[in-house]
Amino acid sequence: MNYRHHFHAGNFADVVKHVLLQGLLDSLGRKDTPYCYIDTHAGLGFYDLGASEAQRTLEFKSGLARVKLAAPEGMPAWVVDYQKAVVALQVERGGFWYPGSPWLALHLMRPQDRAIFMELHPEDAATLRTNFSRKDQAAVHQRDAYEGLTALIPPKEKRGLVLIDPPYEEERDDYAPVVELLKKAHAKWPTGVYALWFPIKDYHAITRFYRRLRNTGIPKMLATELNVLPPDNSLGLNGSGMIIVNPPWQFSDVAFRTLKWLRPVLSDHPQSSMKVEWLTAETAPAAAPRDDE
Ligand code: SAM
Repeated sequence: MNYRHHFHAGNFADVVKHVLLQGLLDSLGRKDTPYCYIDTHAGLGFYDLGASEAQRTLEFKSGLARVKLAAPEGMPAWVVDYQKAVVALQVERGGFWYPGSPWLALHLMRPQDRAIFMELHPEDAATLRTNFSRKDQAAVHQRDAYEGLTALIPPKEKRGLVLIDPPYEEERDDYAPVVELLKKAHAKWPTGVYALWFPIKDYHAITRFYRRLRNTGIPKMLATELNVLPPDNSLGLNGSGMIIVNPPWQFSDVAFRTLKWLRPVLSDHPQSSMKVEWLTAETAPAAAPRDDE
């Protein structure tokens, strides 16, 4: 396990992921009944952008710094709220900090809601535990998401969101292990909302990933993408995406408007692009498994 999120905190992919997370948690918070938020790959919880890790890569300049400079006119509500959350963390801790998904979730949760954070890296899990030691709404598990998630669902609240955000060290190519995890989790808890983040490098692999996802037979699956570079660029991370299973009502329309606004903010490239598209409809029939998948 070499991946450390501190080097990437606040980059363009983090911004898109956390803005969409903001939108999902916003919707869950509209009903009074409690929900459970499960973060399968939690990281540290929040990040010091002044620390050597973030300063070495300066990746936050491709994300957070661009959003901060954007003109406020027409800024979508999820982005406004996300920016407010970043400011709240910076005021809370004093300095140049960036909220990871656990901090953002705890910031948005009400007293009746609950969070479960899984993190496999022993040092990062220890930091995460220390970072939230005073938050009795959150439980930290040093645990492998690939066995932990299915053991922990369905939560007693019966309502909630699972964020699946792996580092893609072992989930390379067309991301078969995460599709398998999503399939198993959905079989145990079909009404949960799932948000699965993925990097976009080689677009042929993404096409295969989408085919794998369709072949699971999971209905109500939405794909969102924001590509800051053209898809045929072979140098590195061209974009990122999020698969959302059981998205809240009207989520797809708001996500479309939000990503449309974010695209030119996060990229100057004329061939940057965004997409919000249903992979499977409300009542997708179970697809027959294919031999090669
Ligand atoms: N979700 C975080 C956020 O948005 O702030 C970032 C998470 S980072 C992309 C992925 C994290 O997953 C890393 O901290 C890594 O140590 C952890 N990790 C890697 N393999 C894991 C596994 N099998 N189970 C749980 N955590 C894992």
